[in-house]
Amino acid sequence: MTARLTQAAYQCLPGGPLEVDKAFYDAVARTADDGSRELVESFILPIRSGKAWEIRKGDICRIMTPEGPQVGDLNIWSLSNPKERMWASRTRQLQRAHVSIYDRLWSNLPYLRPLVTITGDSLKDYRRDADGARVHDLLGTRCDPYVNRMLTGLDFDYHCHSNLTRAIAPFGLTEDMVHDVLNVFQATGLNEHDQYFMKTCPAKKGDYFEFMAETDLLCALSTCPGGDLSKPMWGEGTEALEGDDPTLECCRPLGVGVWRLPDGWLDSKGWKESVPAGVLYKGNHGM
Ligand SMILES: [Zn+2]
Repeated sequence: MTARLTQAAYQCLPGGPLEVDKAFYDAVARTADDGSRELVESFILPIRSGKAWEIRKGDICRIMTPEGPQVGDLNIWSLSNPKERMWASRTRQLQRAHVSIYDRLWSNLPYLRPLVTITGDSLKDYRRDADGARVHDLLGTRCDPYVNRMLTGLDFDYHCHSNLTRAIAPFGLTEDMVHDVLNVFQATGLNEHDQYFMKTCPAKKGDYFEFMAETDLLCALSTCPGGDLSKPMWGEGTEALEGDDPTLECCRPLGVGVWRLPDGWLDSKGWKESVPAGVLYKGNHGM
């Protein structure tokens, strides 16, 4: 009976809408090693900063820790319609609260489609540590200057929310379009009191998290000012965040690369761009 009560509420059934073609995404992942994918963009994101970039459908994006542990806060929008964006809470239900290979990041209503599918994760074996923490967190959200002001009475302009806000401004997107993030490389869990906790980032130099775009996307990433989260940002024993000091020892840059598969590769595998569910549902909510 217990197993029945605790089984996943949203079941991934063979042939169902949540099933992923694992052989296909394995083939996508293998192109990292066989030289068939072509690098089309790469950059280093300095500490305590944000950057947005476009990804064409079918392209593969990898977020990397080139110098060691560092958390990255990721936002994703449909490139053609920024009202469509990653929906963290539904993704928690349809996939899980900490994502890895074969999980998809879904978009909000009335769109509801996979924006990306995760194809690579060098921390895939970090699935539940002795404290019950897992990595690549969808439970929490970004740090922001409003909560910071409320809890510390201080202003700080380089929280992830602010880094993402600055990053998307050149693309015409505004602060209110920043949404709940995927905390890449961040290890979190719920304690015995059902309270959210964060641990020091388990990533090492050279770790990566990779996904394939299921449609054309705008992504934005922040190098969290908490860095590797080895020091608590709020609460007892906290050192207040200040200025934009580039020498903080817990903060490191992140690397981002975007790769393109050879012409015709995706067609030859039968891959198709994801379609918003809103074009299928015609109920009009009973109105
Ligand atoms: Zn942050």
